[in-house]
Amino acid sequence: MSETPSHPESRPVWEQRWHPLREEWVLYTAHRGGRPWIGDTHQAAELALPKYDPTCALCPGNKRVKGENPDYTGVYGFTNDLPCFSTEDSAATASDDFYQMRPAHGTAEVVCYSPDHSKTFVDLTDAECRDVVDLWAERYRELGAREDVDHVLIFENKGSLVGTSNPHPHCQIYAGNMIYGFTADEVTSSRRRHEEKGDFLGQEILQRELAGPRIIAENEAFVACVPWFARYAYEVFVLPRRQVASLADLTPEERQALGLMIREVTIRYDNLWEMPMPYVMAIHQAPTNNGDYSAYPFHLEFHPPLRKPDTLKYLAGPEIGGGSMTNESNPDEKAAELKAVSAVHYKMKR
Ligand SMILES: [Zn+2]
Repeated sequence: MSETPSHPESRPVWEQRWHPLREEWVLYTAHRGGRPWIGDTHQAAELALPKYDPTCALCPGNKRVKGENPDYTGVYGFTNDLPCFSTEDSAATASDDFYQMRPAHGTAEVVCYSPDHSKTFVDLTDAECRDVVDLWAERYRELGAREDVDHVLIFENKGSLVGTSNPHPHCQIYAGNMIYGFTADEVTSSRRRHEEKGDFLGQEILQRELAGPRIIAENEAFVACVPWFARYAYEVFVLPRRQVASLADLTPEERQALGLMIREVTIRYDNLWEMPMPYVMAIHQAPTNNGDYSAYPFHLEFHPPLRKPDTLKYLAGPEIGGGSMTNESNPDEKAAELKAVSAVHYKMKR
């Protein structure tokens, strides 16, 4: 570090912040952000995609591993041809109380947002946004009602940087006899909050964020922010304005508002560097194994892997080796960047 602080405000901030949902510390090193970078870079590439790709397994009318897609015209969901959970009898029976094993029961589905191969969430109409969220809510209810499903995880991997093999606009649903780790953590943290304080963890975070500088978008039912305890530089949470535990608790108006909020967040992401922003988006919602999840904080999390248009956030020694996250940025500053860009997509202005 070459800076010579001349007054207290210019001193580096050595800081950790408590993540109230995951109950873990996040290390902040924004003052180290300017250190020279000599690693890999990822140049923004914008490919012009066709509206229909004959080799795409998700385009209407095309063959898949099993069967083929109908000539669908709107949002379209189907069972994943290679699911990670199954309804078939499993050979996983041999087990002891130390090296435990159990069958992976359940199913997995795919939801195509649009028949148009070239679109992403930013291109959806208001009605298409609503249709996507309506289908998510229906799948949550239907899959969650199954005996062999304890949790419905809906997520989107967008961009090759997060391993998406197919650019066709789609997300995935994993529904099995396993509660995913972050949701299990949030069940614990939100229950403890409700028992100790009598209120809701998600609503406390909402109130803190509404009072702070990190809101990037809001509508009548949802608020989007870079949370105070963000783990990634451009991490965004979409928080409901009232306590709800899952998509099934949302009114039709709220489902529409959620779809529009997702679209605005993804547009702001793309406008940041005028390139398609890669991210992992996950819908955090209550497990479906008949427990009491009334305090569970329903919300969406976006985790973009980029810190700059050409700089990936690597998960390395501290994260993979040590198990704790380092954020090289200041959440207030990253929120200001996402708030400053237009809510109209840059492609529309060309
Ligand atoms: Zn396609």
